[in-house]
Order: sequence, then C-alpha cells, then structure tokens
Amino acid sequence: MTAVRSVLIVGGGTAGWLTACFLAKRLGAHAADGVRITLVESPEVGPIGVGEGTFPSIKGTLAAIGIDEAHFIRECSATFKQGVSFRHWVREPGQPGADHYFHPFSHPSQRDGLPELLPYWLRGAAGEGVAFAQAVTLQKAIADASRGPKRLGDRDFVGPMNYAYHFDAGQFAQLLATHGKSLGVEHVLGHVERVDTDGQDMIAAVHTREHGVLKADLYVDCTGFRSRLIGEALGSPWRSLSDVLFVDRALAVQVPYAAADTPIPSYTISTAHEAGWTWDIGLQQRRGIGYVYSSRHTSDARAEEVLRRYVGSAMDGKEPRQLVLNVGYRDTQWVGNCVAVGLSSGFLEPLESSGIGLIETAAYLLGYLFPFGGEFAPAARLFNDLMRQRYERIVNFIKLHYCLTQRGSAFWRDNADPGSIPLPLQDQLAMWRSRPPTRLDFVTDLEMYPPSSWQYVLYGMEFATRLHPSAAPLDQWDDVRREFATLAQVARRAVADLPDHRRLVEHYLSRS
Ligand code: FAD
Repeated sequence: MTAVRSVLIVGGGTAGWLTACFLAKRLGAHAADGVRITLVESPEVGPIGVGEGTFPSIKGTLAAIGIDEAHFIRECSATFKQGVSFRHWVREPGQPGADHYFHPFSHPSQRDGLPELLPYWLRGAAGEGVAFAQAVTLQKAIADASRGPKRLGDRDFVGPMNYAYHFDAGQFAQLLATHGKSLGVEHVLGHVERVDTDGQDMIAAVHTREHGVLKADLYVDCTGFRSRLIGEALGSPWRSLSDVLFVDRALAVQVPYAAADTPIPSYTISTAHEAGWTWDIGLQQRRGIGYVYSSRHTSDARAEEVLRRYVGSAMDGKEPRQLVLNVGYRDTQWVGNCVAVGLSSGFLEPLESSGIGLIETAAYLLGYLFPFGGEFAPAARLFNDLMRQRYERIVNFIKLHYCLTQRGSAFWRDNADPGSIPLPLQDQLAMWRSRPPTRLDFVTDLEMYPPSSWQYVLYGMEFATRLHPSAAPLDQWDDVRREFATLAQVARRAVADLPDHRRLVEHYLSRS
C-alpha cells in the first residue's frame, strides 16, 4: 500500500472544478508536502452548461473554498434564491383551489417557550386557508414582495432569511477554474482517449491526445454523462430510475428581460405542464428557462410548443437546445482508486437543485475521508454507503412533489400510481396521514433536504394529515395563535425593511 500523493481529476465542469477547489483547500495542493492535484479537461468536449439553481449549502461551500460573496455575484451573474414557487403542481389551471405553493429555504419559526407550530397549523390555528409556508415563515411574504433575503450591510453568506443563488453555469465553472489554479491545482487541456486499468478495479493511467500518459494515485471521474472512468473503464453499474421519475428530455433556452429594470424573482419558478414542468430562473441580465418532460408521454414537437407558449414572444427566433437525460445513479460511486463526482455518478432531474448539492457532498466526503495511506477500500465502502443513502432520500423527496398531484393527464396519473412510488416513501406517507413529519423521520447526515422542506412540499401539495387527538396535546393554543399573528406582522415590517431584490444584486455589483 503506498501513500496517496497525487490526484487526477478528469473533467472541468462544475463537478471537476468544485472538487478540485475543495480538495486543494483541504489537502493543501500549494504546500510542498501537500497532495498534488491535477485537473485534465478536454479542449473539444465542453461542460454541459446547465445547472443554474442551487440549495443553501452552496454558501458554506463557497466560504469553505474561500470565494467571497460579492466576487461570486459579480463573476457569475448571480442572483439570490429564497426557494421555489411551484405552480399548477396540485391541479390544472382553472380548477377550484390554490394553484401555487412555495418551498422557502427558511425553517419554520421556532421560538423559545413555544411548541412546534405545525400541529397547530394542521388544526387551523393560523386561520382558514393560510398556507403552511406563509403561516410559519416570513420568507414567502418577502419573496412575493420582490425583496431580497438580506440587508445591504449584512455579512457575506448571512441574512435574516436563508438563501441560495441562481447563476450562470459557464461563468461559475470559469470562476472555479481561476480560483482552483490560484489554490495550486494544475490544469491540463487534454482529451482522454483511453483509460488503462489493472484488469480489476484500479485505474492505472489515462492516455490523452495532447499530453500522452497521465498517472496518479487517485482518480476522480468528472467526465459528466460520458463517465469515461467509473462507467466505461470500470463498469460500475447504473441504476435507472425511469420507473419512478419519468422525465428524460429537456429543452432549454435563454431569453433577455423585457426591460433593464424588470423585477428579478428571488426564487425559481417551477410550473407543471401536461407531461413535465418548466424551470424559470432569473439571472442579472437574462432568464434561463427549460421544459423537462417525459418522452413516453409527449413528443419533442409538442414539448417545444409547450415551452414556446410558456415563454411567449421572448422566444421568437430562438431555437431551444435539447438534452437527453439519463435519470439514475450508480450504487457504487467509488471503485478501487476511482471516485465519481457529478453527472458521472448520477443524475436526478433538476427539480430541487440536487445536482450541485450532490457534488458538494461528494467533494466534502472525499476531502474528509481522504485515504492518505492508500487504504482505499474502507473509505470507499463508507463513501458508497453515504452517497447511496443520500441519493435514495433525494429520489423520495423529488417523487413527493409528483405523487400527491390531482392533475389528470397520463404523465401525472402515472406519477401518482402507487406502483411508481418507492416503498420507503409509501411508508412515510402512510405514517404522515395521522401525524406530521418530525425530525425523527430523518437522519440528518444522510439528508440533503431538512424536515421543513418535506413539510413545505407535503402541505403545499395539500396532503391531509388527520391528527389523532392524542398525537399532540395542543395546550398552548393561545400562545401559538399570538405567534402566528406576530409572524404576519413581522413579515410586513421585513417587507418594508429589506431591499428590493434587483437593488440588492446591484449593490453587490457596485462593491469593489
Ligand atoms: P459536465 O458539465 O458535463 O462536465 C464534463 C467535463 O468532462 C467537461 O469539462 C469535459 O471537457 C470533460 N470531459 C468529457 N469527456 C472527456 C474526455 N474524454 N477527456 C477529457 N475530459 C473530458 N444541477 C443543479 O444543482 N441545479 C440545477 O438547476 C440544474 N439544472 C440542470 C438542468 C439540466 C437540463 C441538466 C441536464 C442538469 C442540471 N443540473 C442542475 C445538474 C448540473 O448541470 C450538473 O450536476 C453539473 O453541471 C455538473 O456537471 P459535471 O461537471 O458532472 O459534467
């Protein structure tokens, strides 16, 4: 067993560069006794160039690798994201009942001396028809009023509201590349034509067209859907999720704002359509929009019609880009001396920005479980367990968005079919019919999404929890009613105090 002194990352998209930055920071690529980190990327195959929505974990990642917030916002056309607005997911437009709900990033208010608000909300303490997300946080009111999540003078990555970002994927990869090189990552432009193994589960070398053979002690496969190392060379099997999550195509387009001062939503707008859903993400100068759909339930031509109808005249003269999506993941993402990060390890539809979140997790785990002494197998077993369980939970969370729908087209009916719902999620839903989700339903270290995210989606989708009278003794009714009234009042004050979202972004652009 020889000590690990060098890492070769193959691929220079978000996965490659984020992993490179994280490892360089953690393992000291600059230091004489640090681990040498090299990133090789093909000059002819570009990064996928989508992936513009994130989860709040990104703030911790940027801080950990040493990128400051203003610099990031300037370089990546970034805006703030306070959550996701889901439109028409519960029912088709025109049907009676609410047709929007909000998944905010801030947790429900939980003040000292007060009980959890959810059971009281379920019993109507917030008032008739007040949505869960609106009752328990200020964030919905703030986002609806086009306000940003923080004040102009707040510290980097901190604000009264929790938040993530929207950004330009290409610019983000560029920023990470520049930063990674400043941290000591060696950058090689070279197309990997062949990968040698030892005939079992170890990578021996990669052969590049431009620079010949490259060798390292540990390899990180960040080659995207191509999976040149973990898939093609080592044959780690891919578990398809096409029987659970049906979307397998995306049409993406970028359009300018109608005017320079058009308000920028500080949330992703996710709108359900007949055979899938659209994302709509506002950056500083443009919107990124895409229709993610199931080819089993609609045709490409019809999907383009749906996208054009959604975008309107801003799309005139523009051709959308089509992407074929392979939804699934590898049970084994670390084989021998090769770790897969990013699309080479798995891909789940971009509904709740799990892609970049999973890259953050994998880079973090690799950094902390790093096999300095060359004993790969124990670290690999732990890494594989943690990643597989995290994927499983994310799949269930994404499926939760679909399976409670009342929409009637074949795509949505198939999604609500119990046969397509993974057993652990069926169990959760069965339990939550008589009691709400609690902390105990989740294992913090394995979850990307906190319990509150599950609650926001569950009750946004109008799931009915019929609280058994003994399930929660509601003995602080008056205090809780006062708390709901206080939250509504504070929300009005916060809307008055917080800056307009576009103004907040411009403030960062003007900071030197
Ligand atoms: P890529 O970006 O594909 O990078 C692959 C790299 O490998 C490139 O640098 C390429 O040069 C290199 N390469 C390939 N072959 C070779 C070779 N033979 N030799 C050398 N180098 C090679 N995630 C989110 O978190 N939020 C979102 O909103 C979101 N939206 C998405 C929308 C869509 C439609 C899709 C498909 C994905 C979305 N994702 C999203 C996922 C996100 O885009 C990816 O997780 C992220 O971009 C990481 O990609 P990657 O770096 O793994 O792969």
